[in-house]
Amino acid sequence: MTYEVYALKYAHHARRRAENFIGGDPHDGPMPLDYFVWLIRGEGREIVVDTGFSAAMGRKRGREHLRCPAEALRLLQCEAATVKDVVVSHLHYDHVGNFDLFPAATLHLQELEMNYATGRYMGEERHRYAYEVEEVVGMVRRTYEGRVRFHHGDEEIAPGVSVHLIGGHTMGMQSVRVKTRRGWLVLASDASHFYANMEEVRPFPIVYSVADMVDGYRKLRALADSPAHLIPGHDPLVMQRYPAPSKALEGIVVRLD
Ligand SMILES: [Zn+2]
Repeated sequence: MTYEVYALKYAHHARRRAENFIGGDPHDGPMPLDYFVWLIRGEGREIVVDTGFSAAMGRKRGREHLRCPAEALRLLQCEAATVKDVVVSHLHYDHVGNFDLFPAATLHLQELEMNYATGRYMGEERHRYAYEVEEVVGMVRRTYEGRVRFHHGDEEIAPGVSVHLIGGHTMGMQSVRVKTRRGWLVLASDASHFYANMEEVRPFPIVYSVADMVDGYRKLRALADSPAHLIPGHDPLVMQRYPAPSKALEGIVVRLD
């Protein structure tokens, strides 16, 4: 029993190295972010990890929106409207926008993430900066509709697919572990934005708890079969290190398994 895993790039943002590490970087230069959603497919299942943001949100936030994540999924013959399971790694705007494009889905979220996004810390700009109140409210509505499955810690959501509470970046940040033909793969999402954050133990500046973030790097390494089985959340190197599934999808989709 193994799954195929794809990273689908939907947006881009040019920024400087110094913006990606606490304390900056002595060798400043360009270090852009790519924005992804991920598809896990196999065993008759389709599980989408994160839902990205819309073109309108890209304009509001000054990010270059390349394509709607649902359209990117369609290139892999995956219809967002019929997907049954969506893992929301955390509730930041670039991971949870568009969730209304997945009306049939159960949303998998860590309980701590909802506590964080609706609790006292949101009184501070420093903590709420990357959240959009309407998206958090939307998740509250989904909860009342019975469509959110809350997790506390580490739980299997399908045979060979599990979510893992990492924390750090946000209080309820979770990563996803998947059994693939090359072993246990971990979609870190923003538990590590870049390879460099986890490999050099240099945390990203948007952070709830530095201690949890650093512990999280160790946990990610323990969950994955090797460092080459760890996929960071925003690193353009992912598009270079993995192959496109077809010529037509080059620059848009890479296959991670
Ligand atoms: Zn992010």
